[in-house]
Amino acid sequence: MALPHSILIVGGGVFGLSTALSLSKRHPTSQITLIESSPTIPNPYGSSVDASRIVRADYTHAAYAKLAAAAVQCWRSTEWGQEGRYTENGLLFVCPNNASSAEQYVRMCYKNVMRMEDEKEKVQDLPTRADVEKVLSRYGAETNNNIIRGYVNWGSGWSDAEAGVRFARKKLEDTGKVVFKTGNVERILFLGELGQRDVDSSRPLCEVKGVLLSDGTIINAGLTILATGAWTPQLVDLRGIAQATGQVITYIRITDDEQQRLKDMPTILNFATGVAFMPPRNNLFKVSRSSYGYRNPKQLSIPAANVDSREVMEISIPEVGLQVPPEGQGACRKALKELFPWLADRPFHNTRICWYTDTRKGDFLITHHPDHPNLFLATGGSGHGYKFLPVLGDKIVDAIEGKLEPELQELWKWPNLIENEQRIEFDGTDDGGRSGRKGMILARL
Ligand SMILES: Cc1cc2nc3c(=O)[nH]c(=O)nc-3n(C[C@H](O)[C@H](O)[C@H](O)COP(=O)(O)OP(=O)(O)OC[C@H]3O[C@@H](n4cnc5c(N)ncnc54)[C@H](O)[C@@H]3O)c2cc1C
Repeated sequence: MALPHSILIVGGGVFGLSTALSLSKRHPTSQITLIESSPTIPNPYGSSVDASRIVRADYTHAAYAKLAAAAVQCWRSTEWGQEGRYTENGLLFVCPNNASSAEQYVRMCYKNVMRMEDEKEKVQDLPTRADVEKVLSRYGAETNNNIIRGYVNWGSGWSDAEAGVRFARKKLEDTGKVVFKTGNVERILFLGELGQRDVDSSRPLCEVKGVLLSDGTIINAGLTILATGAWTPQLVDLRGIAQATGQVITYIRITDDEQQRLKDMPTILNFATGVAFMPPRNNLFKVSRSSYGYRNPKQLSIPAANVDSREVMEISIPEVGLQVPPEGQGACRKALKELFPWLADRPFHNTRICWYTDTRKGDFLITHHPDHPNLFLATGGSGHGYKFLPVLGDKIVDAIEGKLEPELQELWKWPNLIENEQRIEFDGTDDGGRSGRKGMILARL
């Protein structure tokens, strides 16, 4: 399908870089620009950048499991995974006995991964507490009475998420087909306040013609792609559809001996608490939690074609450089006490809030905007988008071209919300794998 000649991608994280890679391959004569507000890509404050991100094909939904398995293959057997960007150390899911939804989630993952010829031989069922203990004890981890079963997929791993992003950028630079710019997009530019009216709906259609930067520069584009992660709801009204939630990451310094002992451990993931223990790197042991997260509500003008509008909205916005509040630190410490009691009293070397772009069910939002021709959204990572870096761009470009497979199209479409749902943010993502309390507000913790 022919795309407009000039294409602007806003955002240099996983979604933006992957899209740019695919566009530069499939539309090499297009004029592709990628603009990022951070002076560097990798952006140290973006969601795509961290010491490690889990790479797994273990998903409850078969469509994600299939796409993730394709991504795992790339990390495992292509240049994507080389030079330390991917380590296949396994992923151990543990199930506590009082968490039926977590157990169900893990069972579904297990079922899906066992259907895959390339993956199933690497999967080891751990039907009893003693079986889980056998694996954990190799790394000096304990198995509390609460844990009743689990499984380990030795074919899952983790990626150095700064190196992965740097590699994607380098690959793009090597194509010579993408112009990189640094600048903060202040707002989207529309062709006119009110365009033609959609014959089937009463909503006005306003065509997008590019973006306005904070320094007043205008960038015109025939197609604007927002891959702006947790910042996207500031540029388009996504209330009820996607929102920024703060998630917990903590790091503990360990000794050389401990590094040696833990370096080959599988990542340990407990969906009942959302806490993950990652294999340590450079003497830092990472403990993170995926939960309903913290909202950080602020009043902002509603982004709209009518720039004179004074209407305001309350949305959660990401704030970078924040430490984890005591609530999150306490959750990580509690989880440490259960599995690694010998580390539980050590001070945190560092803590960080990292921002998810959460959708209601954890599905990505990869779709044309229904009201604004020439505006495309590639976001909604919902805490699981990194692993797809090598394969996601092709799906995004399929969606732009209108040829995405129906199952993914259905999952990633602009949702039909009832009117009042559109006006407020939801209280937490229900993807079956979240823990903790709903409705936590960062400023009140
Ligand atoms: C704590 C945590 C743990 C995670 N764990 C995993 C995991 O184990 N496995 C996994 O697969 N995934 C994981 N994820 C999810 C994954 O990292 C994200 O889904 C993915 O990185 C999102 O990429 P993105 O491109 O949407 O966002 P980002 O990486 O945040 O990129 C968006 C970019 O847009 C730029 N931008 C925003 N607004 C503007 C603007 N107005 N003008 C110009 N530029 C702008 C930002 O500076 C940013 O660099 C995790 C995420 C977090 C936060």
